[in-house]
Amino acid sequence: MVGAACTPLESALKLLDTLGRPLHDLRISVTDRCNFRCDYCMPKEVFGRDYPFLKREQLLTFEEIERLARIFVGLGVEKIRLTGGEPLLRREVELLVEMLARIPGIDLTLTTNGSLLAHKAHALKDAGLKRVSVSLDSLEDDVFTAMNGVDFPVELVLKGIEAANAVSLKPIKINMVVKRGLNESSLLPMARHFHHSGHILRFIEYMDVGNTNGWELKDVVPAAEIIETIHAELPLEPIEPNYHGEVAKRYRYQVGGGEIGVIASVTQAFCGDCTRARLSADGSLYTCLFAANGFDLRELLRGGANDREISHAIVTVWSQRDDRYSEIRSSETVGLPKVEMSFIGG
Ligand code: SAM
Ligand code: SF4
Ligand code: SF4
Repeated sequence: MVGAACTPLESALKLLDTLGRPLHDLRISVTDRCNFRCDYCMPKEVFGRDYPFLKREQLLTFEEIERLARIFVGLGVEKIRLTGGEPLLRREVELLVEMLARIPGIDLTLTTNGSLLAHKAHALKDAGLKRVSVSLDSLEDDVFTAMNGVDFPVELVLKGIEAANAVSLKPIKINMVVKRGLNESSLLPMARHFHHSGHILRFIEYMDVGNTNGWELKDVVPAAEIIETIHAELPLEPIEPNYHGEVAKRYRYQVGGGEIGVIASVTQAFCGDCTRARLSADGSLYTCLFAANGFDLRELLRGGANDREISHAIVTVWSQRDDRYSEIRSSETVGLPKVEMSFIGG
């Protein structure tokens, strides 16, 4: 069995892809379903009542996820993020958290839209979750509801953030996708609100994930413009990344009171440092957010493969990896077939 510990030989033969990038992070989508219909992710015109979501038997079980997670950790993964769809919609997801939290040496986090966080924060903390990231695109209900597509009020997300804070699922990162013409006016109110809160607000450039959000370059608010907007009122200064390959560029407020981040995946691509693998809710391994196809690990799991065989399959996929979509993005790549983000997890 491939466990968390490496032999000296395995450590020396560190798993690298064709561009020399190690496998460090694993994002696990625990469901493809969501109770929101964010227009940049699952537009309601497409993800309506008849959308063919995965059936229960197609989803990996918690035991299958744990087994894969341990194999990935044996190959060098140090950080696991549970995501989706909306991960808190997966029934008893805290049991999965408990199973994963027992794996030695991993940093375990979860990204949520916050809608169920007020109910779940305590159980997640008790299960061993370290931190959460919460998505929130505006503090104004008319802007937020226009973006989440289901009239979900800001206040309930803020209650979720408070609940997570109360049980110390921190530092809490607040993710705000910025889309031109929709929520630019929310940039400063969000910065003011979370300044001095202890939470880290992160602005995310709107990306051309999937094939359903009708992405156009003109709708992207570049990170440089976001920083200028905040800096004009609340002066900022850049700070060093926490670790090599950190996705968000960090800035702190010159007057103190915390830091913010920008994730400039469109205007300042960071593929060179991308160490992330993604496991879809039905058990396929994707090596890029913009991939069209994944490698079916569920078939191996359910076909009786042992851990060594599964590990070998992952090594083969990773060592052939050459993805760098964001570096080669162009008007031609935008229309290429890509998996939906809600399926493989953001
Ligand atoms: N439902 C959870 C949530 O919204 O936090 C987790 C899954 S969601 C796919 C993960 C992250 O991806 C969220 O922060 C979301 O805002 C971000 N996201 C989704 N679509 C995006 C897009 N087109 N561009 C940039 N970020 C996007
Ligand atoms: Fe759901 Fe998250 Fe996608 Fe919004 S971004 S539709 S909350 S999965
Ligand atoms: Fe990683 Fe693909 Fe994003 Fe580049 S485009 S940073 S390879 S997920």
